[in-house]
Amino acid sequence: MEKERLYELRELLKRYAYEYYTLDRPTVPDSEYDALFRELEELESKYPEEYDPDSPTQRVGYEVLDAFKKVTHARPMMSLGDIFSYEELKDWINKIEKVYGKIKYCVEYKIDGLAMCLTYRNGRLVMGATRGNGIEGEDVTSNIKTIRSIPRSIPYNDEYEIRGEVYMPKASFLRLNEERRAEGQEEFANPRNAAAGSMRQLDANVAAKRGLDGFWYHVPNDPNSDTHHGSLEFAKSLGFKVNESYVLLDDVDDIYDHILKTIARRDDLPYEIDGMVIKVDDYAIQEELGFTSRVPRWAIAYKFPPEEVKTTVEDIFITVGRTGKCTPNAKLKSVKIQGSNVSYATLHNEDFIKDKDIRIGDSVIVRKAGDIIPEVVRVIKEDRKDESVAFSFPDTCPVCGAKIYRFEDEADHYCLNADCPAKVTETIIHFASRSCMDIEGLGEKSVERFYEEGILTSLEDIYTLHLKKDAILALDKFGLKSYENLMEAIEASKTRDLSLLICGLGIRQVGIKAAKILATHFGTMDDLMAAGVEDLEKIKDIGPITALGIYDYFKDEHNIKLIKALKDFGLNMRSDLKETSDSTSIFSGKTCVLTGTLLKYSRTEATKLLESLGAKVSGSVSKKTDYVIYGQEAGSKLNKANELGIKTLSEEEFMEMIEDGDK
Ligand code: NAD
Repeated sequence: MEKERLYELRELLKRYAYEYYTLDRPTVPDSEYDALFRELEELESKYPEEYDPDSPTQRVGYEVLDAFKKVTHARPMMSLGDIFSYEELKDWINKIEKVYGKIKYCVEYKIDGLAMCLTYRNGRLVMGATRGNGIEGEDVTSNIKTIRSIPRSIPYNDEYEIRGEVYMPKASFLRLNEERRAEGQEEFANPRNAAAGSMRQLDANVAAKRGLDGFWYHVPNDPNSDTHHGSLEFAKSLGFKVNESYVLLDDVDDIYDHILKTIARRDDLPYEIDGMVIKVDDYAIQEELGFTSRVPRWAIAYKFPPEEVKTTVEDIFITVGRTGKCTPNAKLKSVKIQGSNVSYATLHNEDFIKDKDIRIGDSVIVRKAGDIIPEVVRVIKEDRKDESVAFSFPDTCPVCGAKIYRFEDEADHYCLNADCPAKVTETIIHFASRSCMDIEGLGEKSVERFYEEGILTSLEDIYTLHLKKDAILALDKFGLKSYENLMEAIEASKTRDLSLLICGLGIRQVGIKAAKILATHFGTMDDLMAAGVEDLEKIKDIGPITALGIYDYFKDEHNIKLIKALKDFGLNMRSDLKETSDSTSIFSGKTCVLTGTLLKYSRTEATKLLESLGAKVSGSVSKKTDYVIYGQEAGSKLNKANELGIKTLSEEEFMEMIEDGDK
């Protein structure tokens, strides 16, 4: 019986591995694969006579695609053994300590991407290859060359091989899936599969557009150092992007503590990590420990709790946004994903529900991809009850009861009632938000409360709130201090730059970037309102659909009245943004910190350059910092940025971003 299970598991895991590695389309969550893998390992150790070199427990990855030229690795590319608990970590360290005593371990992020090997000869990049089955990989050199952070040449003439991970940042992943959804293409299950799918494209132009990046973490047989971390530092000096988060620790409790801290902040990182890798730092000890057929004995992966879990859809309900967009959501039986309780998932739109055939009562697999609200990956149809019925999208707004519409070529439904309470409150919340008029004290909860009490029923009402002092103070838990602070924040909002006001109006397709372009171009609200469609279309970076949307917005009676009212309340209708300060730059409005020695600029020159791009340059790193730009020998500021999960840019990346303009 157990042996049958063993054979069955081998077949099942082979199929899953093929779907995952070769097709980049997994059909089960990683946690399920890992659990089955462990079950197989246990059965195989119980029945050693069943040893099979072809078992998934003995192999790395899967077969490579024939479409690519095959590359035989100079040294095999291994997988990693994995552990999931403190006890397993302690066992692993104990075994090593028994022989070597207390030694240093390099503890790194386990980047969730695609393992890659780069080879340089005479200082030039000559080969980029996937791990494949560990012995043979695929030659993806032309795709690798589209990743801008990977150096094409390095100041090193001997042959140099470095391994690491090509990954897709969360932002690129979300954008890619959004595009695919809009184009009716199948979405990628997670950033890892998206990175693998993008790398294994025959047309390098496709990979080039996917916003991929890479971290480099292993130099096999490195003659330049005696330690792993020494190799990382050397690689960095050659221009490789090394993840700066690594730490050297020698105590199991400290390592575990560090792992827990990382789990707590993993959501804040701009890329996915699925665990931590603990590596013996000393090369001499690594060599003695050696490898099994599949993994090194000197390193182990501590895998994070699964991000994809099974739960039940208890209900499907619609929420209405400020544009009137009606978004379906699933109310889920609460489950823990990445340490937090999850009770809701977005269902995007009618087609998403139809394609996946999601119904109330279904068992579903839910995942958290990036920093977004969880998403339903798939339905477990086998669990479905006979009486289950397909979900039918409502034809009226759940908030105001008006008919809702789905226009031709659009995936979303809209409530068109201008007075729909959901639209009104969402519009006010957006207007008062930090990225627009920044009215502290007028967040979601207060707006909804004020609306319910009839204190705030339109956007312009914000500026008559001072007349409703008694009604506000009569509200439960709204003290005089809160009221006064709110009045101050409202008063301060009157002086905001025109760009923030334009953004706050919530014109479709006009976010802060377009708002800044418009404010810079027109300078005053009157000039913007007087602009024809052709004038708007002529502006760089304003497309024809956005231009029409802006034009229509300012021709609408209701909106003209609103702006007149805001003007009468004394709101600033002018912009101080200058054409010279590049408001379209990615650095515009951002806080940047410079650290280390830059090669191309002096500190003063770099500061001036950033300021001319609209950035504020600060001397210290805090949560408010947007970018840390680092040069050589950068130290504590860079470490702090990594600790806080702040985006860091090497000098080379910084220069590329300036040259390429806004992305
Ligand atoms: P792995 O992902 O568990 O770990 C090994 C890999 O980690 C290395 O090859 C390397 O690419 C990567 N890595 C990232 N950061 C690293 C760092 N700092 N140092 C060293 N290595 C680092 O192993 P794997 O063999 O690539 O994949 C196995 C895993 O893939 C399974 O545990 C499972 O989660 C998943 N999988 C899922 C399915 C499925 O159907 N869902 C199928 C097969 C595999």
